[in-house]
Amino acid sequence: MIKFRSATLLFIAVVVGVAAGGMTELSGQSLAAAVLAGGAAFGVTLLWLEKVVGPEATASEIRATKNGRSVAYVHAGCTVKHRTLDTAQRCQRPHASG
Ligand SMILES: [Zn+2]
Repeated sequence: MIKFRSATLLFIAVVVGVAAGGMTELSGQSLAAAVLAGGAAFGVTLLWLEKVVGPEATASEIRATKNGRSVAYVHAGCTVKHRTLDTAQRCQRPHASG
């Protein structure tokens, strides 16, 4: 899952980098300028994606649900209703019954 996500982010960053480099070259700049622009766009995009997607992906796996009068936190692959978000975050693995 994590490897797949990283590969996806890398792919998006490559596409953005190539697009930025291509547009730079089409605008009449030299090839060196295009490579620099593409590289910069790639790096910035990858950092931005890691920042935006990274923490959010972890949090989105946990959702709050009503457990009687209180709130419980559940996440994918786990049947336990955690009392706090912190507990659910520290769990992060399936509690397979049987
Ligand atoms: Zn759990």
